[in-house]
Amino acid sequence: MSTQLDRMRLNCRLVTRVLGEEVFAATLDLGNQLPTELARARMVCIPILISATRDMIDRKMRGPIVARGPSINAIAASLDLPFETVRRNVQRMADLGWLAIGPGGGVSLPVPMPRALAEWCVDLGRRLRRAAATMEALGATDAMSLERGTCDNSCTLAALDLFLIMAGTSNHFRLRYTELLLVHFVCSASVAHLNELPQGSAPFARVDTVPDAAERAFVPMADLARMLGISRSTVYRLVSDAAQADLFERRGNGVRASDRFLTSGAYVEALELVAGRTATLFSRIERHRCGNGCTALDHVLRRPRPWRQISTLSSSAQIG
Ligand SMILES: [Zn+2]
Repeated sequence: MSTQLDRMRLNCRLVTRVLGEEVFAATLDLGNQLPTELARARMVCIPILISATRDMIDRKMRGPIVARGPSINAIAASLDLPFETVRRNVQRMADLGWLAIGPGGGVSLPVPMPRALAEWCVDLGRRLRRAAATMEALGATDAMSLERGTCDNSCTLAALDLFLIMAGTSNHFRLRYTELLLVHFVCSASVAHLNELPQGSAPFARVDTVPDAAERAFVPMADLARMLGISRSTVYRLVSDAAQADLFERRGNGVRASDRFLTSGAYVEALELVAGRTATLFSRIERHRCGNGCTALDHVLRRPRPWRQISTLSSSAQIG
């Protein structure tokens, strides 16, 4: 009997593409929420902030004991970023009220956390539900894999986990996070119509099932720069870098992932990893029963307890 895990792994290109679109769109949203002082460092600040947010929600959901947040060293190691880069940016975010550094050096969110961040978290949970519905419609997951009543907190936590898992696939390619984001983004954007017809019928897991070149568009570099919020010269440099020459194929000012990259063992392995972990996270959401910890963002959003899924975010009057 095929399990949800089997099914998602079999459709790993599709799963990663659908998740990728939501995760990357959410990343760009968060980038736009950040204070302008952090704009130039957003590709470093975003994963740090996501890591601290994930830690906070996870600790609250585990119970009332609030331990200190992770150290700068632990964040740097988990994101595979240089210690000094993380330290400098954590300090800048703390100065701007987006992070707090405890007396023991633990990094956490300030109390209350920035409201823009709390609202972004709720939206992120929504994005995960939307991705699950899309995957279901395309035949890549079981029906009703994330049911309507599912807890917001648990969906947000899973989406934050997914972000970190996707960011963590940089180890497969020896790329930095910005480069990896660009690669995933190009892959997603250029195969937007993958598997539309017949729905869910094609296995995309194997090396030999890479979408036909005719189905993969060249994405204009100017669009990439705008969508990712990085300068055109940075995009141009990343795409033209000799070390990445194998990753991309160019035509004029457009770029798409190369056949060689899409069929590489490392890429397929990363897709399978993302799909497998997604199936596990969906199971975790299904098993979750709301408890006292499901209040992580309530204080900021002034929401009634216990927190249950609501159709729209509280009106601004209620948020106060
Ligand atoms: Zn809950």
